[in-house]
Amino acid sequence: MTTDKRENEIVSFLEGIVGPDYVTTSRFEKIKQSLDAYPYHADMNNLPIAVVLPKTSQDISEILKYANKEKIPVYVRGSGTQLIGASRPDRSGIVIFTSRMKTFDIKEDWGYFEAGAGIRNQEAKDLLAERGYFLPLVIGAKHIASFGGATCNNTSAHLIEPAVGKPGDYILAVEAVLPTGEIIETGTRGIGKPAGTDMTKYFVGGDGILGVVTKTRMRLVPQIQYSYGIACFSELAGIARGVKRMYLEQVPVPIFTEFLDRNVAEIGYTNKGMEAPPGHVIFFVSYDREKETADKNTVKLMDVYKKEKPIYAEPVTDMVRWEKVWTARESTIPFLMNKLQGRLLVCEVVCNLATFEEGMEEAADFNKGVPYLEDLTNYLFGHIGALSFHPSFIIPPDLGDERMWELSRLLYKREAEFNTKYGTCGREWGQFSKRKDFFIMRYGQTSYDLMKKIKATFDPNNILNPGVLEGYR
Ligand SMILES: Cc1cc2nc3c(=O)[nH]c(=O)nc-3n(C[C@H](O)[C@H](O)[C@H](O)COP(=O)(O)OP(=O)(O)OC[C@H]3O[C@@H](n4cnc5c(N)ncnc54)[C@H](O)[C@@H]3O)c2cc1C
Repeated sequence: MTTDKRENEIVSFLEGIVGPDYVTTSRFEKIKQSLDAYPYHADMNNLPIAVVLPKTSQDISEILKYANKEKIPVYVRGSGTQLIGASRPDRSGIVIFTSRMKTFDIKEDWGYFEAGAGIRNQEAKDLLAERGYFLPLVIGAKHIASFGGATCNNTSAHLIEPAVGKPGDYILAVEAVLPTGEIIETGTRGIGKPAGTDMTKYFVGGDGILGVVTKTRMRLVPQIQYSYGIACFSELAGIARGVKRMYLEQVPVPIFTEFLDRNVAEIGYTNKGMEAPPGHVIFFVSYDREKETADKNTVKLMDVYKKEKPIYAEPVTDMVRWEKVWTARESTIPFLMNKLQGRLLVCEVVCNLATFEEGMEEAADFNKGVPYLEDLTNYLFGHIGALSFHPSFIIPPDLGDERMWELSRLLYKREAEFNTKYGTCGREWGQFSKRKDFFIMRYGQTSYDLMKKIKATFDPNNILNPGVLEGYR
């Protein structure tokens, strides 16, 4: 059978399930669904056969049953924003784009809500806020990142775990479709997560390799009150000691604690029309159900940081100023890419508390000794309250795909060395893909081989997101 004949058969099968309006073979859509945040082009020799937009878990079950029988690779896309290469198909197959799966149901009587895989994080946040609830999930790409993608990563993102835990701590259950087509529901309809074996764990933070998450059930969390603070230091060591002191003196940990090194702060501030700060900046969001208590928490935090001799440390009550500081952080990378007309390479390094000063210094010198990257500026910012940083580099757009691949490999090799040295791992973007070597370095070949056996049990023909576990991307 010719490739064309086979591909036409696959397309008409998919149209039979979701209707012709929701299957596309347009070259534009195929290329779009083959890209991610990385600066190299789509693999034009391995574009998808078709992109399908299912509406229900039943649709996905039919697709996976067929793909499993025909041994056709299937890739799941929420919005393709993930940053370790997992959302980029590495061979020709079917792409399931979850954007139509937008059910969202707040069940106050039951104490939880249920989000379809295609709901955007920001949509969920707004719908919950309207009803007085807080969403324990805050991703930088919140306007497009999907709920299904966030569930698969179990990403902490901006949220500080010691303050509010991980999204997975609030996820009571998922509905998932296995690579062989069965639809399963995990977990509970109660408000307490199961003790002992809970299949939810295979899908929350499962890196999308064991099943397609079609619905996520999350406990309702009453809305919280915020209070804001900022501090500026001439030396990184002062900031590191301050963060450590915050934990050792057991003051209420803020829900957000962001860091901008002097360089990034200057670019972000001036970009927002503010005067550049005289040093490195750290800014916080304390929280509590009561505003008064949140404000008291901010004062306690300020007292801790003042012991480390900052240039200044003060609560922020002017919300116009706060919005500018926060967006200075959020807009720095897009602004840099624009200003320098370059492409972004970014990774995630995580320190431990005991050796945090050393870790922070090493994060600032992250690219030392890394060929080519050592000649570039390391734009350092991060979720410092969680001891994590994003060393970021702007690379010239004309370097060529092979060189850019090479640089991203060097970046992730260095990230793996760093996180292995401090005994940590990424808390945001997931495992495998560009981090497969890290997984083996950090957890050992035995753990990796076990993961391969688990994958083979769930997906005997390796049709779902193939290449993620193997680290092809
Ligand atoms: C500018 C920018 C800022 C970002 N900021 C943050 C941040 O602050 N914190 C953070 O953690 N991340 C951040 N990210 C990374 C990214 O937004 C997150 O990883 C996000 O959770 C990915 O969601 P997505 O819908 O785009 O998933 P995709 O990238 O489409 O998919 C990610 C992986 O999950 C799988 N997958 C997706 N949906 C499903 C499903 N329903 N079932 C099974 N598998 C599935 C995919 O196959 C892929 O392997 C950022 C990215 C960008 C570009």
